[in-house]
Parts: sequence; structure tokens; C-alpha cells
Amino acid sequence: MDRFDVLIVGAGPAGSFAAERLARGGVSVALFDGRPPGEPKACGGGVTSKALKAWPHLLEAVGRTIDELDMYSPSGKHLHLKLDEPFAVYSRIAFDTFLRERAREAGAQVFAEKISARGCKQSDDGWIVRAQSGAELFSAWLVGADGANSPIAKKLAGPLPPAEMEVAFGYRAPLPDDGNAATVVAFLPHWVGYAWAFPRIDHISFGIATTQDAFDHDSLDALMWDFMVAYYEVARYRTARGSERAAHSTMQIWKRAATHAVEAASIRLELNKTAERYAARIPGLAPRTWDTRRACGERWALLGDAAGFADPVTGEGIYYALRSAELFAECYLAGEPLKYEQRWRADFGRELQRASQMRRKFYGNFWGAPFTDRMIEFARGHRGIRKVLGQLVAGDQGYVDLKKKLARSALKPL
Ligand SMILES: Cc1cc2nc3c(=O)[nH]c(=O)nc-3n(C[C@H](O)[C@H](O)[C@H](O)COP(=O)(O)OP(=O)(O)OC[C@H]3O[C@@H](n4cnc5c(N)ncnc54)[C@H](O)[C@@H]3O)c2cc1C
Repeated sequence: MDRFDVLIVGAGPAGSFAAERLARGGVSVALFDGRPPGEPKACGGGVTSKALKAWPHLLEAVGRTIDELDMYSPSGKHLHLKLDEPFAVYSRIAFDTFLRERAREAGAQVFAEKISARGCKQSDDGWIVRAQSGAELFSAWLVGADGANSPIAKKLAGPLPPAEMEVAFGYRAPLPDDGNAATVVAFLPHWVGYAWAFPRIDHISFGIATTQDAFDHDSLDALMWDFMVAYYEVARYRTARGSERAAHSTMQIWKRAATHAVEAASIRLELNKTAERYAARIPGLAPRTWDTRRACGERWALLGDAAGFADPVTGEGIYYALRSAELFAECYLAGEPLKYEQRWRADFGRELQRASQMRRKFYGNFWGAPFTDRMIEFARGHRGIRKVLGQLVAGDQGYVDLKKKLARSALKPL
């Protein structure tokens, strides 16, 4: 029977990064992933500048860096943000392959196979794991990095209630004809969450992230289509007017104008033929769950989405997948793997708990209008607030002192 120090289930960002770090430290690692080749993980692929600064090698993966962002409020108000710190957008096939290959080069053994929770049996000194092929392996530690629906996490830490999952769905669609693809984040009218358009090298990832308990597929899909149509309307307008003259035209969203009906119908027709739909879940832990949920125990650990580590306001999970992998590897290599529990709580646990407390306020009302509407309205007229918003997008501004920071910036002279 093959023997390993650590067996990792799932070679997404969390699993591959942990495998790389552990293997570089001399640990024997088996890394399993059952995803069929060429099938991407459903994801916007946005990686914040905070992550790019922490791990600059991520910029070697093929992607786009983004230094300008168009934001829209629930009432359709527009804000153009120039970002001091660019973020990156990757296709998940490119990003995941990049990280997995680094793990392999570092010495991890990579297996293209599924592992079921039932196939993992704990013994006195580790785990006997039966792979899909029937092969049996022994590993001293078992690490679940198998994503939001993690069967390994259900077995080791118990199931999460369905309300503690967010839903994200969207479409992959072609780049506009003039190749000039804006990056857009638009807060939804009357719904918790936002829509995005993230241009990648060869297509655009459109999506909506919202809470599971509010999910009404037909209404949200209709909003998604309005958003996509408005996006291509601007592109067609640019092509018709010339990019120079139409450079600053903005999307007319969340208020469909009858005058555009013919144009809109033709865009819809085109998108019906080309857009590919995807959907998946993102963990969105409730404030109290952060106190009780464990991410490690005797000879096991959970990383990334499997542990529930995603920002409950934005759905951002790649940074936390990588950071949790790094923290676990550091603890393991220091001979204190169980310290991982303390380390993740101190490092980002408090911030994510604060984010889940903030979610209701962030998508709620403030002075009689949605908070996100107010935030964009104020940012349009105030450089200080624009800066805080830019830092929020960059991942450098946490939620713990967000309100204080916004209020303080608003009081500073323009
Ligand atoms: C639609 C959508 C858009 C998103 N957009 C963004 C974004 O723009 N930026 C951002 O930061 N985050 C985003 N997220 C969240 C982000 O995708 C996740 O937080 C991140 O992928 C978590 O990484 P992970 O390695 O923990 O899990 P995953 O990336 O889910 O990787 C888990 C891996 O485990 C494998 N696996 C699963 N089960 C098994 C099994 N039984 N055996 C073997 N292998 C298995 C899977 O094939 C997969 O490769 C988005 C999520 C969704 C759903």
C-alpha cells in the first residue's frame, strides 16, 4: 500500500497551494482531484490585489490585470473607479492548472481521481483511503479541500445548514467585437448581492452572486439577461460611434428603455446562441457559525471553501483558499498542525465573521436608500470615499472598520 504523510482531496487553489508548500518542505503529499479535464470550476476568477501582493507568482498564470472598474448602484448610478492596485481575472482552467503544476513540480503526487468520504477510514495512526479506482493508500493526515459541497467536510465537521450557502450563476459569453471589454460590478435592485462582468483573455464571465434563501431563479435570471444586454448595447454603441467618441458611455441598467427594444432583441438572440450557463454555491457562514465551526482536528484539516472560508458579502474565496492553505502548511511544517485552528481565526476569521454581520447592513438601507446606492452616490463626489471603495475592491479594506473609514473620509475636505 502506498504511504503518504498528507492526502489532500481537491486540487483547486486551496488543495494545490497546500500541496506545493508541504511538498517543498519535504512532506510526501498525494493530491486527488476528480474534475473531468477541460471542465472549469464555476467562478468569476477575480483575484484581489491583496492576493497578488501576498503571492506575486500568481501573476505568472495567464490572465488579465484590471486597473479600472465601472460600478453601478441599485438605482443605476454609475461610478468609474481607477484602481491604485490592479486585480487579476483568470479563467479557472488556466489558474487551477498553473497551481496544480506547481504542486507537481514541488514533488506532490497528483491523481486524477475522486475520493469519496465513505472511502476514508480513520485508523489509530492515520487514514486508509480507497480511491475510485479501488487502490488503497495510507496517509497520516487527511485534508479536505474539495470545495463548497465538500463531502469530506460533512464527514469531519458536520453539514452546514442550506441557508449558509450563497448561490452564484452566470454565463460565459464572447468578448465584444471591438475587444474593448469593461469590468463591471453592479449591485442588484431589490435583491441581496451583485452582478459582475469580468473580461478574461478570450471571453467574459458574467454572473450574479446572491443568498440562497432569497434565490428566485426566474427573476434573477431576467436581471442577469438585462445586465448582459445593457453591456453589449454599450459595446455596439461604441462600434457605431467610434471608440473615441463613445469612450465614456455608460450602461443603462435596471431600467429598460423601450427605444432600445430592437437592439436588445438582436443582442438577446445572439447571446442565446453563444452564452454558456454555469451555476455553483459559495459558503456564506452565519455570524454564530464562525465561533463553532472547526477547520481541524485529530489528523484532519479543512481548507478554502470546504472549511466555509469565503467572504459573505462579496463571495470572494480565492484569497482565503490560498491563505488557509498557507497557514495549514506552516503549522504542519512547524510540527504543530493543530495550531492551524488558532491561526486562521486570528488571521482572517474575525474579519469574515464581521463580514457576515455586515451583510444585512451592506445590502440594507441607509438614510432611506440602499447602502450601496448611498456609497456610490457619495463616492461620485468624494475622492476620499472613492479611495476607500478602491481599497475594498483591492481586498485591502476590511469590514471591521469600513463604516468608520467611510465616515472619516467623508468628513475630510474634498
Ligand atoms: C459563480 C462563482 C463565482 C465566483 N467568483 C469568485 C471571484 O471572482 N473571486 C473569488 O475570489 N472567488 C470567487 N468565487 C469563490 C471561489 O470560486 C472559491 O472560493 C474558490 O474556488 C475556493 O477554492 P477551493 O480550492 O477551496 O475550492 P474549489 O476551487 O471548489 O476546488 C475544489 C476542488 O475539489 C475537487 N473535488 C471536489 N470533490 C472531490 C472529490 N470527491 N474527489 C476529488 N476531488 C474533488 C473539485 O474538482 C475542485 O477542483 C466564486 C464562486 C462561484 C460559485
